[in-house]
Amino acid sequence: MKESFIQQLKQSLATAKKIVILPHRNADGDALGSALALNHFLSQKDCQVKVVSPNDYPSFLKWLPGENNVLKYNQTPKLVRDSIREADLIFTLDFNALNRIEDLTTIVRNAPGKKIMIDHHEAPEDYASLKYSDPSMSSTCEMVYNVIKSIDDTAFNKEIASCLYTGIMTDTGSFRYPSTTAETHKVIAHLVEVGANGTEIHQKIYDSSSFNRLKLLGLTLSNLVKIPELPVVFMTLTQNELESCNYKKGDTEGFVNYGLTLNNVIFSSIMIENKSEGKIKMSFRSQGDFSVNDFAKTYFNGGGHHNAAGGMSMVNMKATVSLFKKAVKEVFLQLK
Ligand code: 5GP
Ligand code: MN
Repeated sequence: MKESFIQQLKQSLATAKKIVILPHRNADGDALGSALALNHFLSQKDCQVKVVSPNDYPSFLKWLPGENNVLKYNQTPKLVRDSIREADLIFTLDFNALNRIEDLTTIVRNAPGKKIMIDHHEAPEDYASLKYSDPSMSSTCEMVYNVIKSIDDTAFNKEIASCLYTGIMTDTGSFRYPSTTAETHKVIAHLVEVGANGTEIHQKIYDSSSFNRLKLLGLTLSNLVKIPELPVVFMTLTQNELESCNYKKGDTEGFVNYGLTLNNVIFSSIMIENKSEGKIKMSFRSQGDFSVNDFAKTYFNGGGHHNAAGGMSMVNMKATVSLFKKAVKEVFLQLK
């Protein structure tokens, strides 16, 4: 983190009266955890802070301290629009492309407040006047930790610690992805010292599955396909299959990772149909050198990180599977 970022941030905070914090659409543990932690921290100062989410997020995040005060655009659109337009500062957390907040893109782009990006995805857009962007970081939560520590290292408490622990844990696959550094573990150690309970947080996030979700996982795994001769697997879920297990938002979180538990598989994908939006949401995960970020960008209008990315297909499932197989063959034959 650059010293100049902290100096400019401190100057901006000194005069700000109204602050809005935005996680990306379909917030995950890192996006919501970082937004709520920053909210707890800034609320200690003399200003009004609101966390504004483009839409709802999975129920396994709904125990996070402060979650009940989050404003959701799909529930209170006028309040959200007004809050963004009136804000002196707009923090955008865990994303670096304004289209990640979908319906709020234009409202945020045109808002007069100063935009501040804190994010760890590659290739940031240029919408923010103040940027802390570092793709080598494990998570936006680890970056927010650095920000809080630099401004006031006495500010940490149980609420902030629990939110930050959650995002670091979820974005590092429980501290096992290569982005997990010695520094990450030191941050976690400090968060535990100031009140985060790792066992409890792990249980709340990972051991809170509904019966239907576990059945859906079974169905997904029964749909697993290995591409012959290549270290690649994919899974599919149609809208009918989702409905047969009474699908709720967030139920498919983590399913794609099961593909990588196979020996000699380095690339796993899941394709999930959303009939009402007329698209198929694709998730990509890899191990090692293979960049799913490049793959998502080249073939499926998406992006993300080197080993975890997502994209979109606007044709039906059968056609999407064909496109995926063709893309995989093209990429892996080039690699040979
Ligand atoms: P997931 O597969 O869990 O939805 O996303 C994995 C990673 O890829 C996340 O870091 C997410 O921010 C990013 N990502 C997912 N979908 C998209 C997309 O459509 N476009 C871009 N640019 N990034 C995405
Ligand atoms: Mn993240």
